[in-house]
Amino acid sequence: MKPWLIEHQQRLSQQFSQHILPHAILITGVKGAGKLSLAQWLIKLLACQKPTQIQGEPLRACGQCKTCLLERSNTLPDHLNLIAEKTSLGVDEVRYANSFLQKTAQLGTYKTVLIAHSELMTIAAANALLKTLEEPTDNSIIVLLTDDIERLLPTIVSRTRVLNIRPVVGQALMKNLAETEGSALTSLESNVTVNQHAGFVNLTQLPELTDQVVNEEFQHFKQTYIGFLYHQQGESLLLQQVLSNEHSLRWLEQITVGLQRENLLNATDSVPKPIKLNSQVLNQLYKVIINGCKVIKSYPQANKQFVCEQLIISISDVMAANSTLIKN
Ligand SMILES: [Zn+2]
Repeated sequence: MKPWLIEHQQRLSQQFSQHILPHAILITGVKGAGKLSLAQWLIKLLACQKPTQIQGEPLRACGQCKTCLLERSNTLPDHLNLIAEKTSLGVDEVRYANSFLQKTAQLGTYKTVLIAHSELMTIAAANALLKTLEEPTDNSIIVLLTDDIERLLPTIVSRTRVLNIRPVVGQALMKNLAETEGSALTSLESNVTVNQHAGFVNLTQLPELTDQVVNEEFQHFKQTYIGFLYHQQGESLLLQQVLSNEHSLRWLEQITVGLQRENLLNATDSVPKPIKLNSQVLNQLYKVIINGCKVIKSYPQANKQFVCEQLIISISDVMAANSTLIKN
């Protein structure tokens, strides 16, 4: 079990012992944060007839009782996994889960439903789930997982207990980031870079800071994007990367904010950058990117390629319109 999950396990163990577990738990966090591990641990615990506990550690399923064995072979009648078909989770599946939860548990005490990728619920599915969340049946627990809480209806979120999983940032990766970013700068500036990252890391827990592969993709993406901004070249490469990487839209936003931050730092810095983007241009870029992201998030069925092409054209337009400002 990932070490940062333990505090959540401890709290849930306590609630379990006191019979005050929430009826609906929404586990959020980036990919790789351990959402599914935590959910599975809880579902196993709820299924078990004789949970065990080593002093100081969270409760866990015994792994040997009848219901534990059924759970292990995926044949426990008191648990249901709701799995999205392709890109959406429909109303029929949710209705089935609702009626499943109406019945009392056959073998154990609890009935459990796990909804992975709950952001894929259609509006009708989400509304059907809302009824169950408003009038939960006894001893039933719904666990929802998502890595994009903004795509869930606020009414769903407000009726669940939200557990936000934040992985600890690897020291080694931090160092690596600081080195990569600082290599082209003077030692004075690289100190600034390290500090910036330290602050940044404390605020956010992102996959590019915890996963080496994602980090390399991020560095590569950043190079392409910045190259595009400065030289107006590599449009199709940028489009390809935006389309193929699930983090790309957030990265566009993040890198743009980073450039703005460098601008502000440079204002009091005695060492000027060879070229820097004007704050006004960066603000315009930021608005264009935020709008593009909004469109994509609010219409999941929109043609992503088309929206991304439009976004890159808009970025290009901002740069062209401001070509005289850019080097000021
Ligand atoms: Zn057991």
